[in-house]
Amino acid sequence: MQIISSIKDLNNHLKSLKTQKKSIGLVPTMGALHDGHISLVRHSKEKCDVSVVSIFVNPVQFNSSKDLKKYPRDLENDLRILEKEGIDVVFTPKEDEIYPSKPTLSLSMGEVAQQLEGHFRPGHFEGVALIVAKLFNIVQPDVAFFGQKDLQQLQVIRKLVRELSFPVDIVGVPTVREKGGLAMSSRNQRLSEEGHIKASVLYESLNKASKMILEGKEVVSIVKQYTSDFDQNPDVELEYFHIVNPENMLPVETYEGLNDVAICIAAYVEGIRLIDNLYLRLKI
Ligand code: AMP
Repeated sequence: MQIISSIKDLNNHLKSLKTQKKSIGLVPTMGALHDGHISLVRHSKEKCDVSVVSIFVNPVQFNSSKDLKKYPRDLENDLRILEKEGIDVVFTPKEDEIYPSKPTLSLSMGEVAQQLEGHFRPGHFEGVALIVAKLFNIVQPDVAFFGQKDLQQLQVIRKLVRELSFPVDIVGVPTVREKGGLAMSSRNQRLSEEGHIKASVLYESLNKASKMILEGKEVVSIVKQYTSDFDQNPDVELEYFHIVNPENMLPVETYEGLNDVAICIAAYVEGIRLIDNLYLRLKI
């Protein structure tokens, strides 16, 4: 496994592989790897000749410096995991090479980035779009892998690829969950054992809501019910619970004209912000 931190060294390494017509898969991460990341890695290994995993905690996508500081980091353990997975290249760029000066370019992603995470974390998706665009330019992958756990991020990246004509296939990988249903996240490390159990109510609510949707219950009454349920739950501080059109990630009021919906939730448990979603096909 090659561990490369400079862009020039990475370019040199990938150049020879590209002339051999090897397909390159990219898995962008912020490290503190867990089984969700591993699933992306395995999808890449299965689909591509060479897999590059990037580890970079991207400061410009954090809208709180406290959150950035607290973000878990464990490069040594990450490298051990990736070595075991048989990864070809780990790209660990330094911040001053990615951002030699404070970026002035801002990629405004439009309506898909406006609600949910975009609303509660202003500037987040502009920061995500910038780092992903940079990684696509640096690595020039054939395929890039992203988790459906961050559904809005996945939709933002699909839009970025379309609008900037990046010659990259985007693969969305299903969410990996803990035994109790909680979606895996690097942030879960900061939950107590009890916090993991308390947080499983998020996935439970998504499942129950999806059943109600399939039974035809109105959007407004489902959203109202869960908002008030969480209001009465002292363990969870709900930020949002929305049923959205996955095409544009905008909350919907009816199912009319939709083939799919996604139920999206964000909430704090033990002061840790967690997000999750469930994608639902309405018509076969
Ligand atoms: P992060 O390191 O949190 O930026 O995540 C890197 C990639 O892993 C993103 O594409 C995430 O959507 C994906 N990811 C994170 N958690 C999960 C999960 N539980 N299941 C599947 N993919 C995930």
